[in-house]
Amino acid sequence: METIERTRIVDVLKNDAYGTKVNVKGWVRTRRGSKQVSFIALNDGSTIHNVQIVVDTTRFDEELLKLITTGACINVNGLLVKSQGQGQNVEIQAEEIQVYGTADPATYPLQKKGHSMEFLREVAHLRPRTNTFGAVFRIRHHMSIAIHMFFHERGFYYFHTPIITASDCEGAGQMFQVTTLNLYDLKKDESGSIRYDEDFFGKQTGLTVSGQLEGELAAMALGAIYTFGPTFRAENSNTPRHLAEFWMIEPEVAFNEIKENMQLAEDFIKYCIRWALEHCKDDIQFLNDHFDKGLLERLDFVLKQDFIRLPYTEGIRILEEAVANGHKFEFPIFWGADLASEHERYLVEEHFKCPVILTDYPKEIKAFYMKQNEDGKTVRAMDVLFPKIGEIIGGSQREEDYEKLSRRAAEMGVPEKDIWWYMDTRKFGTAPHSGFGLGFERLLLFVTGMTNIRDVIPFPRTPKSVEF
Ligand code: ATP
Ligand code: MN
Repeated sequence: METIERTRIVDVLKNDAYGTKVNVKGWVRTRRGSKQVSFIALNDGSTIHNVQIVVDTTRFDEELLKLITTGACINVNGLLVKSQGQGQNVEIQAEEIQVYGTADPATYPLQKKGHSMEFLREVAHLRPRTNTFGAVFRIRHHMSIAIHMFFHERGFYYFHTPIITASDCEGAGQMFQVTTLNLYDLKKDESGSIRYDEDFFGKQTGLTVSGQLEGELAAMALGAIYTFGPTFRAENSNTPRHLAEFWMIEPEVAFNEIKENMQLAEDFIKYCIRWALEHCKDDIQFLNDHFDKGLLERLDFVLKQDFIRLPYTEGIRILEEAVANGHKFEFPIFWGADLASEHERYLVEEHFKCPVILTDYPKEIKAFYMKQNEDGKTVRAMDVLFPKIGEIIGGSQREEDYEKLSRRAAEMGVPEKDIWWYMDTRKFGTAPHSGFGLGFERLLLFVTGMTNIRDVIPFPRTPKSVEF
């Protein structure tokens, strides 16, 4: 075969230098045609679109052509020609074809279009080859870039917080343990407690549930930072919105109070959505046409809206009123209750028809580090609630007063000896500061229109599921 430098299909489709010789390599999506001519739809992952390879069957060995079936990988030299068919400008008239790898039609799982999402999860090693997952994972990439761009442009530093940690101040019981102890022969002391002093780190450790506490340390020195990394939660909630391993973005900003924190969250989400519309046009269009006819409209809609700012107490009043007017919720609603997804979605989808930032939650249902309000009952927490998703962001202004923070930690059973380093920021040069956490996959649910969080991460980890 003649050696010609490979062109990615995304670039081939933009090229109108008809008559040029090109090389493309990719995976066969379909092959159809007649005895004389074959049409191969070829995709190489660089775009949702396939390039059509036109094969004059009289010019090729029949045995070779038989190997070109759905899923096979081929290497093609050919002439760029103006396309006769609709929907594309160019196609390639094959001159030489090499089959890199065959895909036996009897066993290759991705034969037809329209496999269910459940089935595709069982073949997560191959699903990136479908149109849908190609689109989702390209969007996932572009969203990662958008996140770094947003913060970089605003002078935030990308700060790496640890993945293995000994602090579990937030999610008691949600931590995956990390240990090198021999689980078949655990040493215990007189009181029956495991001898963690003999473990790798000399104390009990786990995978991080949030980088926030360390992020705060950095903000109190670098001014504005963000983290973007894997986060682990062993919560046994089998829902379409929870993963055991997900990616979280956590900005933390010195001198920001809750108001600026809310504005940052709103600007951030809108920037990401705008970026998606600009850089992932074809993929979003595809998902809109094939999955979720309301997707584009919803993305545009959110960009135009000013997010509603709503105190929790006011939110409860609206929900109680809905109940009084006959609306049925599965879970009871009253002042002090944590909102369930159905409540969040009622506020967003039915009452306001707009994203809502809910603030000033009862202190009992929020973490010890949130800044206490003057009323003695609520804290400066903020959750950003989105249509179809519910909570997409959780954040707060942090308690900067040492005495108040210390008291609240004690009340909530967080041993100060475990977080002495965190408390030190309040002892030495403390200042108001705020931050939040955005679940990357929840953002992707919104931007792609996918309905299950397992379908926006390449290899989902959920209870009893860790294949691939
Ligand atoms: P939820 O109430 O939905 O379980 P949370 O209150 O536990 O969320 P936070 O601790 O505030 O969540 O975490 C910040 C953000 O991280 C959330 O707003 C959400 O976007 C995301 N997030 C939290 N838990 C998960 C999870 N198990 N899988 C995916 N994303 C998550
Ligand atoms: Mn939350």
